[in-house]
Amino acid sequence: MCERKLKILEFYSGIGGMHYALKASGVAFEVLGAFDINTNANDVYKHNFPNVKIYQKNLEGITSEQLDKLDADCWTMSPPCQPYTRQGKQEASKDARAKSFLHLLDLLLKMKNTPMFLLLENVKGFEQSDTREMFVDVLKSKSYSFKEFLLTPTDFGIPNSRLRYYLVAKLRGDEHWALFPEKDTPIEYKDFSGQFAELFSTYGKKSIAEYLDDNKVVEEYLLKPEILLRFYPIMDIVQCGCDCSCCFTKAYSKYIEGTGSILTKSSKQECEEIFKELENINVEGEKLELLLKLQLQYFSPKEVARLLVFPITFTFPASTTLKQKYQLLGNSVNVFVISMLMKCFLKSFL
Ligand code: SAH
Repeated sequence: MCERKLKILEFYSGIGGMHYALKASGVAFEVLGAFDINTNANDVYKHNFPNVKIYQKNLEGITSEQLDKLDADCWTMSPPCQPYTRQGKQEASKDARAKSFLHLLDLLLKMKNTPMFLLLENVKGFEQSDTREMFVDVLKSKSYSFKEFLLTPTDFGIPNSRLRYYLVAKLRGDEHWALFPEKDTPIEYKDFSGQFAELFSTYGKKSIAEYLDDNKVVEEYLLKPEILLRFYPIMDIVQCGCDCSCCFTKAYSKYIEGTGSILTKSSKQECEEIFKELENINVEGEKLELLLKLQLQYFSPKEVARLLVFPITFTFPASTTLKQKYQLLGNSVNVFVISMLMKCFLKSFL
């Protein structure tokens, strides 16, 4: 085992999900720099990691000389996912938001001190994009070996779905992938979690209840009457005992459909009964009365952070608004899933 600390550059660092995953992985590391253009995200990062140098800039402007000088061992990258999401136009590399990542690929080609390790996170859909093809071409031409995965936290017993694409790459020598699943299909999925069972024994099947803040109902998170009446048929409502919740996106609490689950402290049976009653009611006031009984609420930012397996030490600065908290968390990553990848990927080489 190497004593040296792995020097990391965290691109698209956001609120530091990758940094927390590195910490959780147990690998000795130091973050040389965190790059992000978003000031709100950088404020949160700085609040939690005051000693890391933050590069508040557009990645399109950095040069291969700058990166050569930093001489990192590992890059973590979670570039904007909008070019690849199912809801978007799927313009992939032609989308302006893909530009900075293509620039990074270009720099990789030009650099002398290319990093030993690369880790990329993105949405499902990236694996079918031309950006992925371009990435793979660069990896091959620079003699990286690599593996790709589609993983979701529910595979690891965490009650939240967040199906994401991951690529890990290592410069030269593909002889060290021993800790990874054997199969050589491009996307390895289901078998992955089984391989690491002993590493996440503390994360056996858990219900949502274990990720909640407390049992009090906080006014701030309750859904407003007009939202309840308009959207109740399409809400994904979960109870404390559930073992899954929907992926939280950056539009959580702004829109209802497809942005994340709504919580009730009522039982499943109570919910079913109320929804059955609602079928036979046409008067809005009566409908509302029934819906209010369920005390439907958004998960608090703290609870979303917990479902993303951020440590309890993670906090927001006082300046971050509620809306920003949801946006930043929605853009972030599941720390546990990435820490598992890092644990196997980085440790197997050190
Ligand atoms: N992994 C991060 C979130 C990544 S989301 C986390 O744990 O929070 C993508 C991030 O890329 C956003 O924070 C966004 O501000 C940043 N970003 C997008 N385009 C960028 C660019 N051209 N230069 C620098 N940062 C950029």
